[in-house]
Amino acid sequence: MTDLRVGNGVDVHPLEAGRPMFLAGLEWPDETRGCAGHSDGDVAAHALCDALLSAAGLGDLGSVFGVDRPEIANASGETLLREVHGLLTSNGWTVVNGSVQVIANSPKIGPRRSQAQDALSRALGGAPISVAGTTSDGLGLTGRGEGIAAIATALISR
Ligand code: MG
Repeated sequence: MTDLRVGNGVDVHPLEAGRPMFLAGLEWPDETRGCAGHSDGDVAAHALCDALLSAAGLGDLGSVFGVDRPEIANASGETLLREVHGLLTSNGWTVVNGSVQVIANSPKIGPRRSQAQDALSRALGGAPISVAGTTSDGLGLTGRGEGIAAIATALISR
């Protein structure tokens, strides 16, 4: 019998002037601010990593990578997804699909949705990944433009 598991993940990073914006596996060169963080700050990739790890019962980004591994500092979201995918695969799991929603005033996801979906999918062995965007209507840290948030769900099987 197929064993199906679902997991959720959330991530938030502050926006900082002068940093490149990496989001959903892509660089967004029109953005004047990027996500500050230990890695490239890709909240969509990080939320998806946590959803996958949670589904597999393998902990979370903090417990798997910690903050003291120098090779993870400035690691791209894509690199982290590839590492997480490898970990799942070595535990016998296959990614069925993933879904990520970004909560931000900017950038707008729509025009680059398929590019983002392809980038995240590639990092996960070709599993279908959907990417959506929304705003918080001017409310809270994302509405004030202080940061960007993402929420993800992943389904895995073995
Ligand atoms: Mg993060």
